[in-house]
Amino acid sequence: MVNSTPDNSSLELARRLHASAALCRVVSAQPLNTSMHEIVLSGDAPLAGVPGNDVMIRVKDATGRFVRRRYSVRAHDPETNRVTLWIVTAHDGPGSAWARSCQAGDEVDVVGPRGKIPLAADADWHVFIGDASGLGAFYRMAQSIEVPGRAIFIVELDNAEDALTAPFDEGLGVTGIFVDRNDRARNDPSGLLSGLAAFALPPDDGHAYLFGEFSVSKVLRDALLDRGLRDEQISRKAFWRAGRTNAEHGEPDKGDD
Ligand SMILES: Cc1cc2nc3c(=O)[nH]c(=O)nc-3n(C[C@H](O)[C@H](O)[C@H](O)COP(=O)(O)OP(=O)(O)OC[C@H]3O[C@@H](n4cnc5c(N)ncnc54)[C@H](O)[C@@H]3O)c2cc1C
Repeated sequence: MVNSTPDNSSLELARRLHASAALCRVVSAQPLNTSMHEIVLSGDAPLAGVPGNDVMIRVKDATGRFVRRRYSVRAHDPETNRVTLWIVTAHDGPGSAWARSCQAGDEVDVVGPRGKIPLAADADWHVFIGDASGLGAFYRMAQSIEVPGRAIFIVELDNAEDALTAPFDEGLGVTGIFVDRNDRARNDPSGLLSGLAAFALPPDDGHAYLFGEFSVSKVLRDALLDRGLRDEQISRKAFWRAGRTNAEHGEPDKGDD
């Protein structure tokens, strides 16, 4: 149980967002591979929301200024109200630095749940496309698909050996395509485009989720439209933008290239 209260700015933000604010405790923090940390938080507020939702973490940047960073909930244990996050840590930024350095017992100011892209429950199949920053959301969403159903993952990774997997219901058809970045620029969509080209989309009604780098997800959206998906079958959310730090409130810069 955590006794102190979150910052006033978090309480105010939560009120505006119709969400909760809580001072959570870090239960565990560990690297999962060369580019991802898993952080488990416990708190007494309902922060986890539905699959696809995220929480905002208040961290300090290199100048000591507080900024917020958004991380999808990878898993939620309703018994203990513990929330698991998968955080990419192979770059330098306040969020990444916090994830690399935090330790069990630390307190962290959290606002949540947030997010407007839940699973499209009526879809016959679901294709999840993006980079490692999307994996937590992708796996939590796919684990909530009612069986029989189908989940396809097309995910670009910096290191092929960093391909994290997850357990799924036996009745779920799962296809995973992990694309090695091969040192291509982080805003180069060609890796994911070739991953998508290698896959024949099932004929019935599906839904695509594009989470990851701003420019890459934009190009992938157009590619899906070219492949015959309708606009309403595609949910895109830019999580970060190559070469630009996310804004204080956690969103990537959406200005022109
Ligand atoms: C709704 C939402 C949900 C998100 N969920 C997750 C999640 O579950 N896991 C997760 O890891 N991230 C997630 N993100 C992205 C995460 O919030 C951003 O990557 C965030 O900018 C990282 O913050 P930072 O302070 O480490 O780096 P920033 O200060 O934002 O950026 C510093 C530098 O690092 C680069 N950079 C930022 N992120 C990455 C990256 N992933 N890979 C390579 N370079 C990067 C930037 O281009 C910049 O040059 C989510 C973002 C949103 C909006």
